[in-house]
Amino acid sequence: MRISERLARIKPSATLAVNAKAQELRAQGKEIISLAVGQPDFGTPKHVVEAAKAALNGGFTRYTPVPGIPELRDAVAGYYGRFYGAKATGDNAIISNGGKQVLYNLLMALVNPGDEVLVPAPYWVSYPAMVQLTEGVAVIVPTNPENNFLVSVADLEKHRTAKTRVLILNSPSNPTGCCYTQAQLDEIAEWALANDVFIISDEVYDRLVYAPAEPATLSRFYEVHPGHCAIVGALSKSFCMTGWRMGWALAHEDLVKAMIKIQGQSTSNVSSFSQKAAVVALEGSWDIVEEMKVSFVRRRDFAYDIITGWGAVCPKPDGAFYLFPVLDKFFTKDAPDSAAMCTKILEEAGVALVPGSAFGDDRCIRFSYAVDDEVLRDALTRVGRVLTGK
Ligand code: PLP
Repeated sequence: MRISERLARIKPSATLAVNAKAQELRAQGKEIISLAVGQPDFGTPKHVVEAAKAALNGGFTRYTPVPGIPELRDAVAGYYGRFYGAKATGDNAIISNGGKQVLYNLLMALVNPGDEVLVPAPYWVSYPAMVQLTEGVAVIVPTNPENNFLVSVADLEKHRTAKTRVLILNSPSNPTGCCYTQAQLDEIAEWALANDVFIISDEVYDRLVYAPAEPATLSRFYEVHPGHCAIVGALSKSFCMTGWRMGWALAHEDLVKAMIKIQGQSTSNVSSFSQKAAVVALEGSWDIVEEMKVSFVRRRDFAYDIITGWGAVCPKPDGAFYLFPVLDKFFTKDAPDSAAMCTKILEEAGVALVPGSAFGDDRCIRFSYAVDDEVLRDALTRVGRVLTGK
């Protein structure tokens, strides 16, 4: 079998490798707790499920326009007005299969072979692979836990060249949970504007930000400079709708048209009844998110105390549902890096975690706290025993 060279360069997903190993151990009868999860442990709100059922019962089961039904595109534009006071119209929105497809569409539409894309690390696993698929070059910009793993204008400037075309920003971050403030985002945006670097702002966790921190967004920057920035959003994380595949971009009309071309020749529209449900989600009550946040804050706080109690350095995140401690001081001869340590923890403690190497920082390991409190406590106690021997 001859597979394209383009694909040969793509690394297999480390997350999938952890899950495969966990499955193997489960098949052997071992009890495994997964803290490798990337989705809330809450169900999709009832009124949204009911809206999907009504759409199905009403026969709304056919193809829709490729970029989404007009009322959903309008609802996406309205979302940025409702939460952030940014003005946009439905023509600036495209609906795709999750934030993931939108990101891929954006990179396909923006990047020529050889163009450089700045990717601050730790990064979400798929960014470098997506850049590679477009035949662009992912330029990794390292950050440090002392700065909450946030990138500064000085860091970016160090990595900018004449070929730099795009910067991918992600706040709140997967894997660190850390968030930029509005002032930090604005400063980076001004730098990008001055240097003709297009920003893709991945804001899929935007509503999962914990007080006193406040959600920050580039949607208002987008409103003023639509040719220099696109906003990526999704209902997956903030509204517990990972399986519905509901994401979007807010972008310049020409960029939306380019993405419609890509999507029209690949996947066409997102499932019709998911779109009807998404309108209800976007325009209805978001109280459920406030309730969910209470649980996430409680878990973040005790998980953070346990992890730092091991003597690990770990920025206290203001958003999403991950902690990303630096654990390299616990690495050993038989577990010398984050992947080997995750395998050891899986085998000895029965806890699945994702190695930092998957996110571009091999010193760290990602812990998701999107699980029940007691399960989380139990898992952390077991991991602590492997790491510290106590
Ligand atoms: N961006 C980030 C930072 C993510 O963590 C994820 C999912 O894990 C996505 C995008 C893609 O989300 P979706 O499930 O909507 O495709």
